[in-house]
Amino acid sequence: MSIQILPARLANQIAAGEVVERPASVIKELVENSLDAGADKIELEIDRGGHKRILIRDNGNGIVQDELELALSRHATSKISCLDDLEQILSLGFRGEALASISSVARLTLTSKPASQAQAWQARAEGRDMAVQLQPVAHPNGTSVEVLDLFFNTPARRKFLRSEKTEFQHIDETVKRIALSRFDVAFSLKHNGKLLRHYPKAESQVARQKRLSLVCGQAFGQQALSIQSEYQGLILNGWLLNQGSTSQDQQYFYVNGRMMRDKLINHAIRQAFEGILAPDCHPAYVLYLQLDAKEVDVNVHPAKHEVRFHQARLVHDFIFRALQDAIERPQFEEELAQPQ
Ligand code: ADP
Ligand code: MG
Repeated sequence: MSIQILPARLANQIAAGEVVERPASVIKELVENSLDAGADKIELEIDRGGHKRILIRDNGNGIVQDELELALSRHATSKISCLDDLEQILSLGFRGEALASISSVARLTLTSKPASQAQAWQARAEGRDMAVQLQPVAHPNGTSVEVLDLFFNTPARRKFLRSEKTEFQHIDETVKRIALSRFDVAFSLKHNGKLLRHYPKAESQVARQKRLSLVCGQAFGQQALSIQSEYQGLILNGWLLNQGSTSQDQQYFYVNGRMMRDKLINHAIRQAFEGILAPDCHPAYVLYLQLDAKEVDVNVHPAKHEVRFHQARLVHDFIFRALQDAIERPQFEEELAQPQ
């Protein structure tokens, strides 16, 4: 076969393999876009575990009519423009791949109205070359993305979708993770027309604790120990359960607002809890690490689950010490503080 440039849709479908694994990953990408757009209200409607339909509606900045087509193309982003930006990423997105990838493996419509524009417009990418169709529609300020029939044109991928129930559990977990990362944003999640989760904006301390209980359960909310530690530009705060939990699901770690599963961090946490937990218990925590964006590389993994710290040892030891101090603190000092 001679060398040829792949058609746009096929190239996007290949890229989609990296970021769009299942409905929950679509939701992660879309919610991150809404957050990057400054939304403080994000509504999700899911039908049949996301197999059939995913709808997200936000009240963010919106996309101007002229840029709707661009937003759907690959490597199109408003978030970075040069290598310097890549070295200190402040937004959740930056690869410019999500919308192009999702629209290559599903029927996607993007509808948006910036406050400055009188009319909302809707875009849909179709065909081999993903030609974009535009039409005016009615829509409030903000953006909606509807994703129908995920993987309808990639049967091999579709086969890997689990039951609607399992896929919905992944979606629910994704929304929980994000809800714990932004207490200043209201989230709601409907499944098959039923409102299942509602996390109102939580700005006061009481409201934050309420959200923590909603997401992690009443027991976690009531027993959690707050932690707050700072060293050489590193800040760690959040909550943990001194005695751990029998459930392995209460482990949330954020680096500059981004949820992570990182080996180095896990190691530091396990070490801090060592010898303290009952044999059937696991560490339980919601922790937020903040550090200079230049000190961490988030461009390691397409789905951005992993990071690389420039000063790995320092970060590891800082987390370990901060947790060890907190864990050894006597129970009567328990109180809940602000996580941010
Ligand atoms: P990235 O987030 O990496 O920039 P995406 O493909 O996810 O790439 O989105 C492409 C662009 O479309 C974004 O950079 C942004 O300008 C715009 N965009 C996407 N979703 C929204 C949204 N909900 N509100 C406003 N703009 C959006
Ligand atoms: Mg994005």
